[in-house]
Amino acid sequence: MYPSLTFTLDGTPIGAESRTTQPVINPATGALVGSLPCATTEDVDAALQSSQRALPGWRRMSPLDRSAILRRAATLTRDRAPDIARGITLDEGKPLAEALGEVMSCAEQFEWHAEEGRRIYGRVVPPRLPEVRQIVLREPVGVCAAFTPWNFPMSQAVRKVAAALAAGCTLILKGPEESPSAVVAMTDLLHEAGLPPGVLNTLWGDPAAISTQLITSPIVRKISFTGSVPVGKQLAALAGAHMKRTTLELGGHSPVLVFDDADIDRAAAMLAQFKLRNAGQVCVSPTRFYVQRKAYDRFVAAFADAMSTTRVGDGLAEGTQMGPLANARRVQAMEAFVDDAVSRRAEVVTGGRRIGDTGFFYAPTVLAGIVDDARIMTEEPFGPVVPVTRFDAIDEVLTRANALPFGLASYVFTESLKTAHAVSNGLEAGMVNINHFGMGNVETPFGGIKDSGMGSEGGTESMDGYLVTKFITQM
Ligand code: NAD
Repeated sequence: MYPSLTFTLDGTPIGAESRTTQPVINPATGALVGSLPCATTEDVDAALQSSQRALPGWRRMSPLDRSAILRRAATLTRDRAPDIARGITLDEGKPLAEALGEVMSCAEQFEWHAEEGRRIYGRVVPPRLPEVRQIVLREPVGVCAAFTPWNFPMSQAVRKVAAALAAGCTLILKGPEESPSAVVAMTDLLHEAGLPPGVLNTLWGDPAAISTQLITSPIVRKISFTGSVPVGKQLAALAGAHMKRTTLELGGHSPVLVFDDADIDRAAAMLAQFKLRNAGQVCVSPTRFYVQRKAYDRFVAAFADAMSTTRVGDGLAEGTQMGPLANARRVQAMEAFVDDAVSRRAEVVTGGRRIGDTGFFYAPTVLAGIVDDARIMTEEPFGPVVPVTRFDAIDEVLTRANALPFGLASYVFTESLKTAHAVSNGLEAGMVNINHFGMGNVETPFGGIKDSGMGSEGGTESMDGYLVTKFITQM
């Protein structure tokens, strides 16, 4: 059963009543699974008022008591994981095992931030005069607004919610309209865990209208957005005009550097599996493959084999390794990327086509011999299509890898310590993975540079976005 969909104002779930609604579609079948109530401008205003009212009580609550609520939320997340995961597979499409992994990672997010909120330390600065005492405090920034995308509907939301709440902020969340069930479940369980009304308000509706109303309101002091670069730039411009702090986790175009000395079969198998996670709709998905000349043919053959033998199907079906794309826009985007690549003489080694005409399935695809100015080499693919090209020398590949305005994740396969050292220094990226995929755990920072955004989520940096510094000097 797919849950009934609501947004939450002041601790109360709100249904459609006389409001407009949006359909929620199962991307594996194209069938309608739910109907989402859209917030009115009055609802957005009610969320602002509610968040402002709740702020003094929440920021005064001891970190220990806030921590207890977040820990209970972690327990409820684990208890309900099978149902929440099923909702994610139904509205976003990823295989059930992946959805379950996403939900379980949210329990960790709640737990880790519950503890980190108890470690928001200030400092004492030695004064210039003996009778002066100088103290630096870190205080909650206030009411925050967060906007989260459809690809990881629960974990993208929980990253922001857990950090803001642990820091003593209240938060208004506009989650993903296309895959809303997990945010509904998360909001319910937080309130059952004891979250006071108004500390977390949620909204659905027209993203541009809601974000504009929230960002321009004097009540909101900080925004956090995960999504595409163009939308991130728009929101950052609006936030700048209203002097709001921002954390932006935007798109990427992650280069993969496979050197001749790498364990080629291992790299090919690992990369195929990692690439097809959530059908490639991941901001840190490996997207541009540069393979050194001697290893190129062997890598392409092994990688294409692993891609083509991946079982694609409904995420609820037993044995499915890759589900559908989340919506029709992504299928059209894959078709356009492949057409462009083929028109520039790339070879379709495997895939290169939509699967069936029900739902939004696209075959895992490898494009060999791609040129650097093909669209897929410069625009974020966000799907299961991989362009592969050759390189000769380390300086050359670093120049090509760093040529785009993105700077999120990057991947390197080499057995040489010297090469690993050189590329980890030379890659312009927020995250460098060498011989394994090790990002995204709650205890490590996750974020990009250049057009890929600003600020980090996860790690001790996670709390920084929700805190402001106050200096006190006293004689
Ligand atoms: P899009 O640019 O229309 O939307 C991206 C996200 O921003 C969506 O969640 C959308 O609801 C939200 N959004 C759009 N306009 C907004 C506004 N004015 N205010 C607040 N939120 C707004 O693209 P799309 O078709 O939904 O997704 C495709 C592209 O988005 C991908 O190519 C990828 O670059 C990017 N994306 C990135 C992430 C990520 O994790 N960084 C996640 C999802 C999508």
